[in-house]
This record gives sequence, structure tokens and C-alpha cells, in this order.
Amino acid sequence: MATVEDVRWLGSSLERSYEVFVRGRLKFRVGSIVYVAFSLDETEMGFGFPKEERAALVASAPDTFRLPRESEMRFNWVESSLAALDPVEACELVVDAWRLCVPKKVSAAYDLRHPGGPGPDRPRVRLEAEHRQTLARLADLSQDFDAVVAASRDTNADDEHDPEGATIAFERSQVQALVRQAREHLAEIEAAMERVDAGTFGTCEDCGQPIGAGRLDARPVARTCISCAGKPRGRRS
Ligand SMILES: [Zn+2]
Repeated sequence: MATVEDVRWLGSSLERSYEVFVRGRLKFRVGSIVYVAFSLDETEMGFGFPKEERAALVASAPDTFRLPRESEMRFNWVESSLAALDPVEACELVVDAWRLCVPKKVSAAYDLRHPGGPGPDRPRVRLEAEHRQTLARLADLSQDFDAVVAASRDTNADDEHDPEGATIAFERSQVQALVRQAREHLAEIEAAMERVDAGTFGTCEDCGQPIGAGRLDARPVARTCISCAGKPRGRRS
């Protein structure tokens, strides 16, 4: 599931691109050309896409993509449901839409800076998204925790002898454990981001071999390759 936040950084970081709000709607432009536009509630993302190819795109995933409204069919444009896209896919669509609006040499320069593939920096995007989700989970958990604490104050219960008090104490320790897990995960994500910056992301810390793409996709914070992770000794993640 993607959100506006997953792609918004592209709107202001891609060369020649900038973001604008038009009657409350966020749009990305190159010059006067809009290449990405979000719905007012930010659940939908419209983006530039070659009109000869869009019927095939919509047919391939009708729950994710749809044709623009009748009056806009003449434009190279497709609408999508952000919730049905993953963050990396959403970023790739934004970059491809941007490519339609910039000179070939600008697009080629982008590719030179992103040798890993045609899309944006995949691990970075994944980690940024996971970081935001984990922060949101922490915020939820601290609300839960406040609620549990408030409940324990309301019941005015004696933890040792009142069964309700014991339940509250148990709930409190459970929420605390979840908070601890989320904080640890946040630290793992931040460490992985540092590895991206340092250029060591994707290299096993135990054997120095590359970590498989499938493993990194499933678990971008992994520090070791699958075979080292299975060994009884050594660090793992
Ligand atoms: Zn290894």
C-alpha cells in the first residue's frame, strides 16, 4: 500500500520538477506540464502515461488502474488507486511520468545516477516507507498505552488482588513489549539506511557476499545472506 508521502519527495527532487497545490490538490509539474496529480483526499494518483499503452495497463490490473474521465481521454494520462500500489511501484510510475516531460538527456542523467534500475532507489524507497509505517505504529501504540494507563487509573484497582487490575497490568506489559519491538525495528531500519548511504547495503556482514534480492525484498533490514543467517554462530538479523 502506497501513500502520497511515499512519492512526494520525488516531486521536489527530480530534475526540473516542482510541486504545486491547485485548489487544494497536490500536483507535480515540469514547467507548466502536470505529470502527477493527486485527488483531494489523496487516495488517487493520476500520472502521465502513453495513451497507446494504457488500455493494456488498465486490463492488467483493473483494481489498480483506470482510464481518465471521458473529457481527459485525449491526454496521455492514467488514474490509479494508491492503496493498490506498493511504494516502489508508485515511485516508478512517477519517475516514468516525469520522463515523458523532460528531455532525453535529463532522463539519461537520472539513469546514470541510478544504475540499479529504471526506477528510483529501491531499497531507499522501501526503507523510507517502512520507517514511516513504524513511526505511525509507535504513535498508535503510545495512544494504546495511554488508554491502558487511563483505564488503570479509572478502575483504581489493586494489581495483586483485583482480577481486573491484573488484566490491566498484563495489557500494559504487552503494549510495552510491542513498543520495544517497534523501537528496535526503527533502529534496524535506520542502520539499513546508513548502509545505503555508505554503499554497503546488500552485502552480507558475515561473509561479504551479496544478499539475495528476494531476501532483501522481503526483509530490507537484513544484514546477512540467507546461508549465514541459517548458521548457528555469527551475527544475524
Ligand atoms: Zn553471508
